[in-house]
This record gives sequence, C-alpha cells and structure tokens, in this order.
Amino acid sequence: MTSNVHVIDHPLVQHKLTLMRRKETSTNNFRRMLNEIGSLMAYEVTRDMPMHDVEIETPLERMKAKLIDGKKLVFVPILRAGTGLLDGFLSVVPASRVGHVGLYRDPKTLVAVEYYFKMPHGMAERDAIVLDPMLATGNSAVAAVERLKETRPRSIRFVCLVACPEGIKTFHAAHPDVPIYTAAIDRELNDHGYILPGLGDAGDRIFGTK
Ligand code: URA
Repeated sequence: MTSNVHVIDHPLVQHKLTLMRRKETSTNNFRRMLNEIGSLMAYEVTRDMPMHDVEIETPLERMKAKLIDGKKLVFVPILRAGTGLLDGFLSVVPASRVGHVGLYRDPKTLVAVEYYFKMPHGMAERDAIVLDPMLATGNSAVAAVERLKETRPRSIRFVCLVACPEGIKTFHAAHPDVPIYTAAIDRELNDHGYILPGLGDAGDRIFGTK
C-alpha cells in the first residue's frame, strides 16, 4: 500500500472497530463507539499539524510557547455518514469550523452526485480534514475532495474508519497529494459497492434507518 495511507492501529481504535463490526451491535453503541474512535483518530490525524512560537506570560515569567498555525481547522463530513465522526473530532478540537459536502451515490452507476456544499470563509489559511466512515468505491471521496480543492484550503487530509484496496486506488489516482487515515484496510469491494468484511451500511448503522 502507498505511503500516503496511514493505518491507525492503536489498540483502543482496533478494539472499538471490532465491536462496531459485529452485526448484533446496537445503533446506540455503534454511534457511541464511532464518536469515541473519532476522538482517538483526531489525535493521530492532527499529530503533525504545523505550529509556531508565540510569546506568552505565565504567572511566573515570560516564555516562548507553541500554537497550531493558521486559522481554525475545518472538519468536512461527507453527508450523511461522515457526521457520525464529527462529534468525536470536535471533542478534541472544539474550536474547529465545520464545512458540509452532500453527495449521494447513484444506485445504478455508483457515481457521486453533489446536492449540498458549504465551507467557512478563509479556506486558504485552513487545514481541512474530510470525514467519511467508509472508503468504498472512492467515488464520493474523490468528488468531495475535488470540490473542496476549488476553495483552495492550505492542506487536505481524508479520514475514514474502513477502507478497501479499490477505494484507495481510485482515491489516490485522483488525489495522490491527499493522505488517507484509516483504522482498517479490508479485503475487497463487492458488486454492490459494499466493503467486505466491512461493517455494513455505516449510515444505516449510525442512524438506525434499517
Ligand atoms: N458505504 C457503507 O456504508 N458501507 C460500505 O460497506 C460501503 C459504502
């Protein structure tokens, strides 16, 4: 796999992912664990954020200390399943801004069609982190990042919970410059665009719509 894919293999992330995969896991528990994994992944994904020194005064003396560079981060969940990761990310970086991309998969062609797009101002000074639990065909992720690039953010990272080789290949053919952060790379995509073994339909499992 290419070096632009980071598998977050922290035991806490892997343990929760296993519990989430189980078909008997309830909507309530699935959503809660996705939140928890979101916060753990946020910690890893932001590990190398650029920083700069500022002069501050502690109660005892002046010192040079570090702050994250640029304007506030922007988290970009791809609707609707991406919102399942959002609270976890916001719990770690509460001042972040949030942009939304609405895409649906045409059930026949599996091609992504945009229906909503809204980003905060000042994107040129922001680092964007795109959220979607499943990198399956890669079509939605490719389309979302393509659209996001039009706003010229300073950097883009893509975060998912489960990826597959087909999705990674498609995504990096279109966006080799965008690193993927995932908790797992599963075996394959099936003919209906689902990841195997996967965890089923992430949106349905988060929102209890099946
Ligand atoms: N979307 C999902 O929710 N699950 C998959 O396996 C693939 C796409």
